[in-house]
Amino acid sequence: MTSEKMNIAIDGPAAGGKTTVARLVASELGLLYLDTGMMYRALAWQALQDNVPLDDTEALGKLAEELPLDLEAAPDTEAGCRVYVNGVDITAQLHGDQVSAAVSKVASVSAVRADMVKRQQKIAEAGGVVMAGRDICTVVLPEAELQYYLDASLDERAKRRFADMQARSGNDLTYADVRQRLAQRDYEDTHRADSPLKQAERAKYIDCTHLSAAQVSSILVDDYRKLAAEKAEEANSVKS
Ligand code: C5P
Repeated sequence: MTSEKMNIAIDGPAAGGKTTVARLVASELGLLYLDTGMMYRALAWQALQDNVPLDDTEALGKLAEELPLDLEAAPDTEAGCRVYVNGVDITAQLHGDQVSAAVSKVASVSAVRADMVKRQQKIAEAGGVVMAGRDICTVVLPEAELQYYLDASLDERAKRRFADMQARSGNDLTYADVRQRLAQRDYEDTHRADSPLKQAERAKYIDCTHLSAAQVSSILVDDYRKLAAEKAEEANSVKS
């Protein structure tokens, strides 16, 4: 069978479980998983390395354009992918405090977004990608057959992010710090001028506050299978 694989687009606020859900869906359906947040994080990391001021939009745009960035699927790891800059694996450094605090500023620069969107669209060209981020349904893949907005209360998201951080060593942020930083990032992501985070018209809204990642993922997997079956039936009836 040579049926074309569909793309799944997922948006939502920080720490709402998008990454885990997208990874589960991709592995269940045999699709490629792409966490676009890691791309913006890689750029923020590079800007910090090079001491590029976070308000120098021109320098950030140039940095994005020239960034030798590669992503590799790594379904068995926590991040679900490995991120390389200049061939060096920087994945483990992308969720540190400094990168997390800088990333929304870097991501608000239009030239940066234009470059990242181009890269993301190229990856999804052939179909079969589960892509998660903030502007995937609205800007990157507005034609994606399946679109979702995964939301959860700020308290629940802060609880999850805090638990993740405690599981890793070397972090002394309190729950209140984590909650405050998430709220700040949400504010920046929903209030920027270029491609702010919002629910796309066609996106299905799912409140994940009281759902596990496995429960959310099974909703998406069921939708995908139903739509794929409908398309196959349609194709068959056209043939006969
Ligand atoms: O998903 P994650 O929390 O890792 O994303 C980090 C940041 O990257 C977000 O807070 C947002 O500022 C930016 N981002 C974005 N557009 C995307 C994905 C992430 O602006 N598609």
